Amino acid sequence: MPVIVIIEDDPPIRRFLRTSLRTQDFAICEAATGKQGIIEAEVRKPDLVILDLGLPDMDGVEVINAIRAWSTVPIIILSARSNEENKIQALDAGADDYLTKPFGFGELLARIRVALRHSAQSGALTNSEVFNSGELTIDLHNRVVTVADKEIHLTPIQYRLLTVLIKYPGKVLTHQQILKEVWGPSYQENAHYLRIYMSQLRQKLEADPTQPKYLLTESGVGYRFKA
Ligand code: CA
Repeated sequence: MPVIVIIEDDPPIRRFLRTSLRTQDFAICEAATGKQGIIEAEVRKPDLVILDLGLPDMDGVEVINAIRAWSTVPIIILSARSNEENKIQALDAGADDYLTKPFGFGELLARIRVALRHSAQSGALTNSEVFNSGELTIDLHNRVVTVADKEIHLTPIQYRLLTVLIKYPGKVLTHQQILKEVWGPSYQENAHYLRIYMSQLRQKLEADPTQPKYLLTESGVGYRFKA
C-alpha cells in the first residue's frame, strides 16, 4: 500500500483527504504543522507528500526545502488561489505539482497517480530511448521527432525545449525551471523567449495549436507536458 503523508492544518480538509484516499488503498499519515510534517515525512518514508502551503508554524516552501534536503519523494501542493507567487516558489523549490483549492477528488487522484508513476520512472529516460505519447514519437538517440509517422523538423532550441518537457511527463514546470534548463541560468528573466518557442513548438506538433493536447499552459506558472 503506498503511504501518503498529508501536511494540512485545516481539519475538515484533512478529514476529506484521509477518508477519500483510504478508499483508494493508500495508507495515510497526517500532520497539522510544518514541523510535524517534516518529521512524518522523515519517519514514515512516504511514497508521496500532500502539502498545504498556508501552515500555522512555517511557510510551506520551507517545508519543501527541508524535505528536499534528503528526499526526492513527490510533493503535491495544495494552495489557495491568492497564493500565486507562493505556488511558483514552491514549484521552484522542488514540488512536483499543485492543486488550487477548492479541488475535486478525481483531479487530486489523477495528479497523485502521475506523480507516483513519474517517481517510479525517474531516470529511466536515456539517450537510447524512444519516447512515445499518442501520435508523437521522439527518437532521443537519433534526434528524430515524428507526428503520426511524419517527420517534423525542429531547430536545436525547439528540440531542447521539447526534451526538457518530456523528461517530466505530467509534471508542471515553472517558466524559471524551463528557461534554466534550455537556455541556462543567465536567461531566467527572459520569459518571452519561452512563449515564442512554445508557440513554435505547438505550431509544429499540435493538430490544433490553439487547443494543445501535449503542450499545456499552466496559467501564470509555466507549462506541463501531458502524456
Ligand atoms: Ca492552511
